[in-house]
Order: sequence, then structure tokens, then C-alpha cells
Amino acid sequence: MKVLILGSGGREHALAWAVARSARVSQIVCAPGNGGMAQIARCVPLNLKDLGDMVRLAEQERPDLTIVGPELPLALGVVDALQQRALRVFGPTRAAAMLETSKGFAKHFLQRHGIPTPHYAVCATVAEAVHAIEMFHAPIVVKADGLAAGKGVIVCPSRTVAAEAAEGLFSGALLGGAERQVVVEEFLEGDEISFLCLSDGKHVAPLVPAQDHKRIGEGDTGPNTGGMGVYSIDSLLDPAMSDWILHHIAEPTIRGMAEEEMPFAGVLYCGLMMTARGPQVLEFNARFGDPETQAILVRLESDLLDALEACADGRLAETPLRWTPGASVCVVASSAGYPGSYKTGFPITGIGAAEKVPGVQVFHAGTAQMGGQLITVGGRVLGVTASAGTLGEALSRVYEAMGEIHFEGIYFRRDIGHRALGAAK
Ligand code: AMP
Repeated sequence: MKVLILGSGGREHALAWAVARSARVSQIVCAPGNGGMAQIARCVPLNLKDLGDMVRLAEQERPDLTIVGPELPLALGVVDALQQRALRVFGPTRAAAMLETSKGFAKHFLQRHGIPTPHYAVCATVAEAVHAIEMFHAPIVVKADGLAAGKGVIVCPSRTVAAEAAEGLFSGALLGGAERQVVVEEFLEGDEISFLCLSDGKHVAPLVPAQDHKRIGEGDTGPNTGGMGVYSIDSLLDPAMSDWILHHIAEPTIRGMAEEEMPFAGVLYCGLMMTARGPQVLEFNARFGDPETQAILVRLESDLLDALEACADGRLAETPLRWTPGASVCVVASSAGYPGSYKTGFPITGIGAAEKVPGVQVFHAGTAQMGGQLITVGGRVLGVTASAGTLGEALSRVYEAMGEIHFEGIYFRRDIGHRALGAAK
């Protein structure tokens, strides 16, 4: 079987690595790929912002399955375009991906279906937003409606700051592009959990739970990033809570989308806050998370390709997922300065030695091969990932492996998963 993977990050490297383990795969093409994917797949250039370019590539390669990694191609309708050409593809259609691409759509959808989510108002003008802000106590959360690469959520300590945030989103001062809608939302406190599941539009199969660390600094301080680390252990959610989330959040979402004639097939990523009044949906993503995917897939025992194909073909109910019990961790090594400005082009060494540590896989994000040398080309450079019987063991493996890796300005958090360590023992 020939598989095409769209994307170039750590998530896509982990997908390619997991797909490569399937006995049925004969060829993997990654577009555009990265320095790590180039070691296990053929990488071809691609502009992920250009729908025509993606369709041309798929028509030329004619893969048996295309797997879409990032959100932008979904928002552009790559799944619809490939399906129209009778090409098999894993991922939601443009309409179904609105669960991620429009927070206003997602909030109204959640309310229509009685799925728990913070109180909110979707506002079309600054005046509407200011009026809505008066209804909430500080702190108040103000969110851009559209895709914002993790920069669209502003937690505001006062109504004045919230009004300024809404104004900045509508004018374009905050994100560059002007928002047509802004969501004003109740602030909630609690632990955050990433609950991902696969769906074929009808059946829902949960993946193991994960918890990520978005802030750049240790102790969860400083600016938000794409994600600096994540860990997965079964005890993040007890079985009763996991069932509750499945039956009251994930399944009603998939059922609701089918009822509204936008069946959702792909990965539904539920970003949940575990509050005093139960789990609440903070956001949906319509794709695998990064770096959640890296930590989740190293725990997958069954064949990923079978499961993704089953999603595309509507027969997920016949394809159970099997997981390795225990724990996994992914720690991101980033370039000095990230998420602000940073330099690239530095040689990377030690990945071979890092992967000799038992249970360790190094997934590449911002890397490229240049003249036989692996170099840094992005802010998040590598995702060093380890699995083990316990979280403590997975952490010691990951940091031992990280100690082998060198590039100028390497930065990583040393406290990934530490909050859970006591509880997990
Ligand atoms: P989102 O992209 O909606 O998941 O928001 C990004 C981050 O902002 C979340 O992971 C939370 O840490 C925070 N956040 C979003 N919504 C809320 C909320 N209603 N209350 C508290 N924190 C929030």
C-alpha cells in the first residue's frame, strides 16, 4: 500500500513512523516532510497553503490513503477535493472541520446538543463584545473565531482588558488578520486533559489520554507555544470518567455532526477542563495534536494504518485499538528564543545515541538534511519521546536521551509531567 502524509512537523513524523510499522505498507510519501521523515519516506515539496498544489500531488502520486496532519489543509477543503476525485483520505471534510476552524460554530453546536462547555457569547461587532463582557465576571476569556495557531485565546484579568482584546481581534491588531467573530467566554479553573478519539462518522474509538504543557517556561510560566511537552498515563482519567467523557462529550458530538449532515470522520481532539461541575469542552481540534500524537502513538500496539483506513471506509467498529499499558512522555527541544524570534541552520548531533536509550524515539519537527548534515530549521526542533511501565521511568529515559542531543541554543523544559509524578506512583 502507498500512503501519502501531508505535513512537516513532529506529529507527521510520528504518523509516518507508526504507519511504517504496518506490514501492509510498501511506500510512504511525505509532503513536504522534514529531516526525520526523509529517513523513512520519500519527501516531496508541497505548499500546504495551496489547495491546487495538494490536489495535483495526490493525483500524481495516487496513494491508497492520504493522511492529513495539520489544520490548514482541512480548512481549505483538501479532504472534500480528494474525495471528489475518488481518492481515499483520512480527515474531516471542510464542513466537519468547522468544529476547529470556527469557535463560534463549535460553541453554538455544543449548546444545541447539550454538551458541557463554558458559558459564552459569539459577537459580530466590538459593541456586541463590550455588551457581552458586561455580563461576565473577571477574569474573562476572549477568543478569535478562526484558526490562530495557538495565539487566539486571551485570558483577561478585567473587563477593560477584555474589551481591548476584543477590539484588537476585530481590528486585526492582535493576530494580523481581522476577525469577523469573537467569542467571549466564562473563565474556568481546573486541570486540562486532551481526550482524542478516532471516528468514522458513526463509531468513536478513544485514544489514551494526554496532558500537555503549552508554556515555554518551567512551572508553566511565560508565553504560549505550540507545545513544549506532553505525557500520557492511564491514571490521568479513571475508567468511569473516561466513559463519562465518551458518552457525554465525544459520542454526542459525532452523533450531532451526523444529524446535522456534516459527518465527522478523522481525529476529534477534545480539549477539556476538568472543573468542579465536571468536564467542560474548551475547544475542539479536527486533527491529531502536536506533540500529543508523539506520546500517544508510541503507546499504540495495534496497527495505525488499519485504524485510519477503517475511519476513511466507515468500519471503525470492526477495528479495535490496543494500547500498551504504562506511560509515555514527549519533551520538545526548541531553538533558543522560541516562541519569539530564533536562529536556524545549526547542526544537530546525538540522535543515534539518544535512540539507543531503551523505549526512546526521536521525532523530528524543525529539521532538514543539508549536505549530509542534519540542521535546525524551526522553533520546535525535535520531540524526544519515551515509553515505559511508569511515568517516572519514561521521564528518566526521555531526559537521559535528551542529554545526548546537541545543537546550538537547545532549550527544553525539565519539568514535563512532574506535577503528575506523585499522583501516578
Ligand atoms: P483553546 O485554544 O480554546 O483550548 O484555549 C487555549 C488555552 O487557553 C487552553 O488550553 C486553556 O489553558 C486556556 N483557556 C481557554 N478557554 C478557557 C476558559 N474558558 N477558561 C480558562 N482557560 C481557558
